[in-house]
Amino acid sequence: MDTFLQSRSASLFAEALQLIPGGVNSPVRAFRGVGGEPFFVEKASGGRIWDVDGRDYVDFVGTWGPAILGHAPAVVRDAITSAAQRGVSFGIPNPLEVEMARQIVSWVPSIEKVRMVNSGTEATMSCIRLARGFTQRDLILKFEGCYHGHVDSLLVKAGSGALTHGQPDSAGIPKSLAALTLTLPYNDGEALERIFVERGREIAAVIVEPVPANAGLYLPRPGYLEKMRSLCSEYETVLIFDEVMTGFRLAKGGYQERCGIHPDLTALGKVIGGGLPVGAFGGRTEMMDYLSPDGPVYQAGTLSGNPLAMAAGLAQLREMERVGGWNRLEEIGAEFESGVKRVLARSGKRYNFRRIGSMFCLYFTEGDVWDLASAQRSDKAAFGRFFHGCRERGVYFAPSQFEAGFLCVAHSEADLERTERVTGEVLSLL
Ligand SMILES: *Cc1c(COP(=O)(O)O)cnc(C)c1O
Repeated sequence: MDTFLQSRSASLFAEALQLIPGGVNSPVRAFRGVGGEPFFVEKASGGRIWDVDGRDYVDFVGTWGPAILGHAPAVVRDAITSAAQRGVSFGIPNPLEVEMARQIVSWVPSIEKVRMVNSGTEATMSCIRLARGFTQRDLILKFEGCYHGHVDSLLVKAGSGALTHGQPDSAGIPKSLAALTLTLPYNDGEALERIFVERGREIAAVIVEPVPANAGLYLPRPGYLEKMRSLCSEYETVLIFDEVMTGFRLAKGGYQERCGIHPDLTALGKVIGGGLPVGAFGGRTEMMDYLSPDGPVYQAGTLSGNPLAMAAGLAQLREMERVGGWNRLEEIGAEFESGVKRVLARSGKRYNFRRIGSMFCLYFTEGDVWDLASAQRSDKAAFGRFFHGCRERGVYFAPSQFEAGFLCVAHSEADLERTERVTGEVLSLL
């Protein structure tokens, strides 16, 4: 190919393919869910990103959730800079860790003690180990299409990239380990009851995304999570809410604040790090004290509680509170939804649009979506054409039908107007 005609993204990707498996450091970035090649980002600010070829996009990925205020807000940049002047990592307790713990414990209803880790994956992995150690049971129960990071025991019928790539069950996980993971369809209360009656006393933990957002986005049916809570209490099974995506996004205290159901353990990530690599998990004191050094369950991390990450996360959370970020996101969400509905009505398409707060998904199916099976009825080829059409016109949605979209506080009128115009144009061409 004539390299003079090649875009910078294309030549960077060609080189990346030689050096990095699939050219990417996380699979969904490879665009396999929609075809074509990814672009490379030069910079990001507010609700927009710019690629290395100088094109700008209204961004609804928000670095997969963390950028809740928008990209690179001044408060977060300043917090990182000033923390860095005092040192970038200590490996000895630092005051920011206590501040972060105080913030989490005061906001998230079910958390009495919390430990910091470096990713959502680490958070869910640690919750599972803690639940098994605490209950002295081996089985865990998860739901089809829920994604909890790339933890061995949890890459069974998983969502997100695993689903996009048609590999909800990964190679490299011993059958004997996968056999300890039971799975059920989400939102099926009867199946849940049945499995508890059969095996409840062997199940260490139930782990769930209370609002599943890694197979698109669908909501719990009324009473479903309540039933899960009461079955777990009855059988002394640990209920783990994976709020890595919903935590600090759907409300200051996560989805558990909105629904009023208190899990035993909660996994957090994404928003909590302000864009730096952070996760956390917490819960009742009695259970958290089962962790080393007080208890028998080992868990550790060289960079856990890193001062730059704590500073960035704290700055983001405080700014959200200062600007009334969650109310603002509800308003932006409602405005965005009206735009989508107008566009759908004009195009004559009756696709299923799902939204809660600042999270959304447009499924390319007319049927209702409550679980993985109904989400998979979506027309993925149509989604792919929609994705590329929008991208070519300066609107960037996640490159897979099975990812949620994210709104941020910085999305402006102009961003929403461009989105309405572009999506309208693209839908009419499908
Ligand atoms: C993103 C995500 C994870 C994994 O977090 P990483 O930081 O990517 O390891 C876990 N659970 C849920 C619900 C997520 O959305």
